[in-house]
Amino acid sequence: MNEETFRFQVDRITHESPRVKTFRLRPGQAGMPFRFSPGQHMGVRPSDPADTEGGSDQRWRHFSLSSSPSDHDFLEITVLRQGTVSDRIHSLSEGDWVEVTRPVGEFVLDDAVGYGPVFFGGGIGIAPIRSMVRYCLDQGLGEALTLFASFSTPEEALFEDELKKWGDQTPGVSVWVTCTGVQARQDDRSGPSHPWDRAYLEERIERPLERVYYLCAPRGLMDTVESHLASMGVPEERVQRERW
Ligand SMILES: Cc1cc2nc3c(=O)[nH]c(=O)nc-3n(C[C@H](O)[C@H](O)[C@H](O)COP(=O)(O)OP(=O)(O)OC[C@H]3O[C@@H](n4cnc5c(N)ncnc54)[C@H](O)[C@@H]3O)c2cc1C
Repeated sequence: MNEETFRFQVDRITHESPRVKTFRLRPGQAGMPFRFSPGQHMGVRPSDPADTEGGSDQRWRHFSLSSSPSDHDFLEITVLRQGTVSDRIHSLSEGDWVEVTRPVGEFVLDDAVGYGPVFFGGGIGIAPIRSMVRYCLDQGLGEALTLFASFSTPEEALFEDELKKWGDQTPGVSVWVTCTGVQARQDDRSGPSHPWDRAYLEERIERPLERVYYLCAPRGLMDTVESHLASMGVPEERVQRERW
């Protein structure tokens, strides 16, 4: 990789679910070496000077920042264990080092547009959405903010306490969590397992044409949400998607 890289130290590791951990990273030099916008991602690789593969571009993977830019002295990434590099990141301990690149990406929060933003985070896709929501709340942009989060089971749910706190304690913020793997009663329209269909969204999104939508979820789920939004009359340019 030719671009400039920075060393960060793993300061805290939080187990979010059996296969997901959040890594809090602090810069190896005084002060944060770059700025980022909520929603952006950066290249990360474990920093292992003894590794003879060192410098191999293949070991870089991109991870969304799950912390907010308003957290000035640390960054967080939230990593699903699923292959070579994510396995290695999961085996890091507090005090270990990683290398990161400058954050990039077009999936960013537009804080200038209209009525409250609507966020959809599915599975590990909640990572950049968390950054965006935290930033909105830190900046007092939480009025009429709506968040939909979906996980396969309650055990796989991420940031549960934080989501609950946002929904219960922040005026104007509504949070709707779905766990698709939970068996629901057939007549249950509001239960925790309800899928994101058009009726479900229409019941929960006020003034849908004035909102901006941010989606990060498995591709098929984003396609489904996008088609429901289109059928509700939401213009395409109001829907931002993160493609992993
Ligand atoms: C913009 C962007 C943002 C991202 N943000 C995040 C984030 O916030 N959090 C996050 O967890 N991830 C994120 N990712 C995904 C991340 O970059 C990696 O792609 C992911 O961690 C997998 O890398 P890996 O080296 O662990 O897996 P790899 O070894 O590259 O494997 C990738 C997939 O292929 C499968 N696979 C590998 N080898 C085989 C095989 N022999 N046979 C069958 N299947 C195989 C693995 O099971 C895995 O599902 C993001 C990606 C992008 C592009």
